[in-house]
Amino acid sequence: MKKVIIIGGGISGLATAWLLRDRARAAGIELDLALLEKEELPGGKIRSIREEGYICEWGPNGFLDSKPQTLDLCTAIGVSGKLHRSNDNARKRFIFSGGELHRLPEGGPSFLKSRLISWPGKLRLALEPTPLVPGPPKGVDESLADFARRRLGREALDKLIAPMVSGIFAGDPETMSLVSCFPRIAELERDYGGLIRAMIMLARKKKQERAAGKAVSSAAGPGGVLTSFREGIQSLTDALAASLGEVVKPGKEVAKVARGAGGAWKIGCEDGSEHDADLVIVASPAYAAAEMLTGCDDGLSILLRQIPYASMTVVCFGYERERISHPLDGFGYLITKKEGRSTLGTLWDSSMFEQRAPEGKVLLRSMMGGACFPEYVKFSDDEVVARVRKDLKATMGIDAEPSFIRIFRHPQAIPQYVVGHGKRLQALEERLGGLPGLILTGNSYRGIGLNDCVAAAQRAADQVMELVR
Ligand SMILES: Cc1cc2nc3c(=O)[nH]c(=O)nc-3n(C[C@H](O)[C@H](O)[C@H](O)COP(=O)(O)OP(=O)(O)OC[C@H]3O[C@@H](n4cnc5c(N)ncnc54)[C@H](O)[C@@H]3O)c2cc1C
Repeated sequence: MKKVIIIGGGISGLATAWLLRDRARAAGIELDLALLEKEELPGGKIRSIREEGYICEWGPNGFLDSKPQTLDLCTAIGVSGKLHRSNDNARKRFIFSGGELHRLPEGGPSFLKSRLISWPGKLRLALEPTPLVPGPPKGVDESLADFARRRLGREALDKLIAPMVSGIFAGDPETMSLVSCFPRIAELERDYGGLIRAMIMLARKKKQERAAGKAVSSAAGPGGVLTSFREGIQSLTDALAASLGEVVKPGKEVAKVARGAGGAWKIGCEDGSEHDADLVIVASPAYAAAEMLTGCDDGLSILLRQIPYASMTVVCFGYERERISHPLDGFGYLITKKEGRSTLGTLWDSSMFEQRAPEGKVLLRSMMGGACFPEYVKFSDDEVVARVRKDLKATMGIDAEPSFIRIFRHPQAIPQYVVGHGKRLQALEERLGGLPGLILTGNSYRGIGLNDCVAAAQRAADQVMELVR
C-alpha cells in the first residue's frame, strides 16, 4: 500500500486529501493517507469566529459560484444543502473616490451616468476596442498597471483596476503580473483583440447558446454570486476535516522533508516524530515549503522563498443598527489609493449574509495593509481602531463608537504573483522533475481564490493517482 503524506491543512491540503481518497476508493486502490497540519484547528486562512452573536470571518468570506470547483466539492462531501448565497444586495459594489462613494457601474448606461470616471477618462476607455490601443507587448510579462494604462487609460487604472487588485490580492498593480493574476483577461485580449470586443462577442455567444437551449458558457469577468454557509465559510473546512477523520493529524508542524533510501521520503516534525512516505504533497504556503525543503533541494527552496506575500489586518466592527445612518445596501466599497486613507476598503458583511450580526446590529469588516502598506500590520490595536474609525467617518459618515471590535492580523496573508511569477513556476516545475514523488499545491502558485485552490487540489489528486496506478 502506497503511503501518501499531505503537509498543510488549509482548503488546499484538505481538498487534496479528500479528493485523493475519493479517487483511490473509486479506483479500488488502497492508500495509506495522512495530512500533517501545524495548528490544532485545520482550515488555514479559513476561520469563522462566532462571538457575541456575530460571525467574523478571519480570512475569506466565501467563494464565487461562477466557477464549479468549490460547489462540486460541497456536493461531493454532502454539504451543498447548507450553502448560503449572499443576497442580491451584494451585487452592488462601491468605490470611494473624490471624497464620495460611487456605485460601481454594471453596464453601459450606468457607466455613462456614473461620476466615478471623468468624461476624458470615459473617452479614453471608449478607445479600448479601437486599433489606436496597442496590442500586448511580445515576450513581456506585463504588469497589471502597464496593461491597464495601455488598454484602458490611467484613470481606469486608478479608479477601477487598482482597487480591484487591492480587493482581491491586497496587491500593488505596478508589480503584479497580468498573465499570472488574471490569465483569462490576457487570453481575452489575445483571442478577441480587446476586452470590450470580448465582452460583446461572449454576450452574443451566450444569447445564441440560450436560444439553442444549450448550457451557457461562463462569463468573461469574475462575476458570480458570493457563496458561503450559514455558520460561516469554516463549515467547509470543518466538513472536510470531519469526513477525513483520523487522516488529519493536527498539531504536527513539519520541520524537514528529505529523501530517504530507494526514493522514499522522510518527514520530520518539530515534535520529534518521523514519518515515511512514498509520495509527499506540500500544501503549505511557499515560504513554509521553502523552510522544510532546505537541505533537500536548496534551489527549490530559493525559488519558493522568492514568492512574496502581502500582509493584511482584518478589522471587524459591530454597531447598533440605529447608530448608522448609511443604508448599507450592498457589498461594501474599495478605496482608491489617491484618497490617502489607511484602509483598503470595508465590506458590509451583515448586509451580504443574514445572521452575521445579532438582531438590531450590523457587522462591518475593514481591510488594512496589503503590498502597498506593509508596515500597517505592526500597528497597535489602538492605532488600528483609530485609523479604521477615521476612515469610516470619512467614507460613510460613521461617528459612533463600535460596540464590538475584533482585529485579525495576517503577517503573510496573500501570495503576490509579481512580474516573473510565470518564469518562476517553470523553474519550479523543472526542479520538481528531479524530485519524483514530490508535489506542490496551494494558493502560492496558480490562483488564490478558494475555487483556484480546489482546482489545484484536483490536479494534485490526479497527479498522485497517475503515479500510484
Ligand atoms: C484576509 C483574506 C481574505 C480572503 N478573502 C477571500 C475570499 O473572500 N474569497 C476567496 O476565494 N479567497 C479569499 N482569500 C484567499 C483564500 O482564503 C486563500 O487563498 C486560501 O484560503 C488559501 O488556502 P491554502 O490551503 O492554499 O493555504 P492556507 O490557508 O494558508 O493553508 C496552509 C496550511 O499549511 C499549514 N502549515 C504551514 N506550515 C506548516 C508546516 N511547517 N507543517 C504543517 N503545516 C503547515 C498552515 O497552518 C495552514 O493550515 C482571502 C485571503 C485572506 C488572507
